[in-house]
Amino acid sequence: MSLSILLDYPEDISLSALKLIKLKKSIIKRLTLTGEATIAELCKETDFSIPTVTKIISELIEEGIVSETGKVDTPGGRRPSQYGINPNACYYLGVEVHRNSISIGIQDFNNQFVKLAEHIAYTLDNTKESLQLLCSIINRFVDDSKVPRSKIIGACINLSGRINSRKGFSYSYFFFEEKPLSEIIESQINIKTFLENDTRAMTYGEYNCGVVKSEKDVIFVNIGQGVGIGIICNGKLYYGKSGYSGEFGHSPVFDNEIICHCGKKGCLETEISGIALERKFKTALNEGSISILSGKKAIEEINVDDILQAITRNEDTLGIEILEEIGGKLGRYLSLLINIFNPELVVLGGTLAETGMYLRLPVKTSIHKYSLSLVSLDMELKMSSLGSKAGVIGACYILRDKLFYSA
Ligand SMILES: [Zn+2]
Repeated sequence: MSLSILLDYPEDISLSALKLIKLKKSIIKRLTLTGEATIAELCKETDFSIPTVTKIISELIEEGIVSETGKVDTPGGRRPSQYGINPNACYYLGVEVHRNSISIGIQDFNNQFVKLAEHIAYTLDNTKESLQLLCSIINRFVDDSKVPRSKIIGACINLSGRINSRKGFSYSYFFFEEKPLSEIIESQINIKTFLENDTRAMTYGEYNCGVVKSEKDVIFVNIGQGVGIGIICNGKLYYGKSGYSGEFGHSPVFDNEIICHCGKKGCLETEISGIALERKFKTALNEGSISILSGKKAIEEINVDDILQAITRNEDTLGIEILEEIGGKLGRYLSLLINIFNPELVVLGGTLAETGMYLRLPVKTSIHKYSLSLVSLDMELKMSSLGSKAGVIGACYILRDKLFYSA
C-alpha cells in the first residue's frame, strides 16, 4: 500500500483494506495534528491495540510516510521509540489568485513552506487566456521548485466569488463550460485540484497557525479590494448549503446609487473596501484636499496600494481620515454579525488590515458603539498575524484536511 492508495482507492475495495486505510489515516492525523508520539501514546489516544498500532507504524515506515525520530527517556530505564511524520513524504500546493497578482506556495507534509512566491505578476480576467496563463504560471513554479510533481498530492486554488468547493465549480470566474473548473485546471497541471473561496482559505490559515489560539467561534474579515467574511463555527469552517456563505460585501445596506461589480447597487463593499478607499481618496483630491501623494502621481493613476503605503509609511492624513471613516462603517455592520453570531474572536485581515491600528481603532470603537455591550465585551478583536500569506497557508491546510482527515 502506498500514499496514493490512501488517497484514491477503488470503489470495490475490500472492507479489511478500507479499514486499514482508515486506521492509517487516523494515525497520520494524530501525528500531523499534535506531533511525535510513542506507540503507547498512539494506542491510548486512538483506542487501537498495541499489535495493531505497531503493524500500522511499521507499514507507514516502509512506505516512507512515518519515521522514527528518537527515543523517549522513561523512569524505568526502557526507552521507547518516538515516531513522527516524514515531512518529505508528500507536499501540498496552495495558490491564491488576486486581481493583479498570484501567490503560490508549496508546503511539506508538516505544513512548512519549502517554497513561496508572492506578488507574481498576473491579471485576472474572466477569459480562457487568463485561465491558461494561470496554469502556465503554476506549472513554471512547480518546475522551478525542484519538488517532484508526483509528490505533490493536491493543489488548492483560491479564487474570489462564488465557489462550490465540493463540486469544484467557480461561478464568478472561468465559468466557460459545464465542467468543474477544478477538473480543467487538474488536466493542465497534472495535480489533483480543489477550489476554495479566497476569504475562506485565509480564515482557515489564520485558524490553524495564525492569530487564532483556542477560539472555536471566529469571524474573519477579509477587507481588500472588496470585503468578505469567513466563519469558523464550533471549530469548523462554515460553508452553507453550496459554499457561498460569507458574502458580507454584497449586503444591500447603502442608498448610494453606486453600482457594485456584482451588478446590484448599494452593496456594503461600495462604501467599505479598497475600491471605496480609492474612489473616496481620488474624489477628495479632485475636490481640493491635499495628500502626501499630491503632485507625485496623476490622480487617475493612484491605486489602493499607493494609498496604503502613504498611510503606513508617511502617516498620510487624508488617507488615514478616509480609512477611519471606512473602519467606522465596517464596525457598525460587523456589529450586526456580532449580535447574531456571538463570536469569541473577530479577526481583521486582507490588504487594508496591513494598516494595523489605523483600521483597528475605528472598527473597535464602532463595534462598542453599535453592538450589544454584553455581546461585544464577550469577544476580542485582533489583526491577522499571517498577513498576505494567510490564503496560501490556508489552502495547504484545507488540502491536508480533505486528503487525510476525512474518513
Ligand atoms: Zn455587490
